[in-house]
Amino acid sequence: MQQLPGRHFLQIPGPTNTPLPILAAIAKPTIDHRGPEFAELGLEVLAGIRSVFKTANPVVIYPTSGTGAWEAALVNTLSPGDRLLMFETGWFSTLWSKMTKSLGFEADIIKGDWRSGVDADLLEARLREDKAHSYKAVAVVHNETSTGVTSNIAAVRRAIDRAGHPALLLVDTISSLGSIDYRHDEWGVDVTVGGSQKGLMLPPGLSFNAISDKALAASRTSRFPRAFLGWEEMLSANVKGFFPYTPSTNLLQGLKVALEMLHAEGLDQVFARHARAAQATRAAVRHWGFEIQCSNEAEYSSTLTAVRLPVGHSADALRHEILERANMSLGNGLGPLADRLFRIGHLGDFNNLTVTATLSGIEMGLKARGIPHSPGGVDAAMEALAGNLPPAALAAE
Ligand code: PLP
Repeated sequence: MQQLPGRHFLQIPGPTNTPLPILAAIAKPTIDHRGPEFAELGLEVLAGIRSVFKTANPVVIYPTSGTGAWEAALVNTLSPGDRLLMFETGWFSTLWSKMTKSLGFEADIIKGDWRSGVDADLLEARLREDKAHSYKAVAVVHNETSTGVTSNIAAVRRAIDRAGHPALLLVDTISSLGSIDYRHDEWGVDVTVGGSQKGLMLPPGLSFNAISDKALAASRTSRFPRAFLGWEEMLSANVKGFFPYTPSTNLLQGLKVALEMLHAEGLDQVFARHARAAQATRAAVRHWGFEIQCSNEAEYSSTLTAVRLPVGHSADALRHEILERANMSLGNGLGPLADRLFRIGHLGDFNNLTVTATLSGIEMGLKARGIPHSPGGVDAAMEALAGNLPPAALAAE
């Protein structure tokens, strides 16, 4: 591919742009993973990561992509043949349920429309029907990256409690962790799954399981065979800051800096920055005259916006045009949404200029492709970022 001038705009919904201080930390020489310097690093990141999940309990760090942590959540807590209740919110919840079945668990799927999040009332009804408590776990995705829909996990917890059901609650926060408010302890989540390459601003390669006491107890009686992903050995090595095998030393050096950056900005400010970027992006999309994939305003994602193009226009051709003209990558439509929509990532390391530059690249691409739209979406976004949205537009939020 031809070398394009300027920096590449990686505006997919993860992996995200890695800021220079994190890149510099990763580029430092690799240290002895059994030496005292590593123990200090290990203890620091294992303690620091808890605050991002908002938990006082242990968080396990794997040298895998997020998919590894999905598997870890299942194999550590369940036994062969166990039944789960899962909610279909889009591509990623579907992949998780496929994995669940591949591992030999039984997964009952509550069908969704890929435009909204987990319906807590429906979930409650299904759990009430399960009088024998045959479901051992409920598994949901907090932020569905294929659709730009954020589910209300506190409402899911309340639904499980109202049904008086003892199932474990497993939640995927891969594209929301460190970007959208999330409370592992307060919301009574048993295993939270996370990844490094989105809100944490690291390259791909680390994943996480935040673990409740109930999940830990379940892991002690679980009969599912596990080795590399087993919590027990990991947690006992972690007490002194070490890992049972060679950890991703350099990514952990990067994680230390990522945590420092998130804490220096303040998590609430980080969440507000993401919400503002999302609001500005939606203002541009509406101005252009396109439909947002998420159909429920209360569930708009702060980390990405999935934009539907009018029928007859290829979202992939638009993305290709933008890559060639503006040196910017946007997310593609996944599964049944392929070529129907494109996804704008506004998560991780970005500011108002990154958001407006991203939207400029899209508007130029729309013009170049001759896709009918109302020009001036970037102006609408700038108004939103400046807090100058007219009252009617704000009300629509
Ligand atoms: N879950 C969600 C919500 C995701 O967005 C992704 C990846 O984008 C995954 C799971 C899979 O994670 P990974 O690709 O890191 O294995």
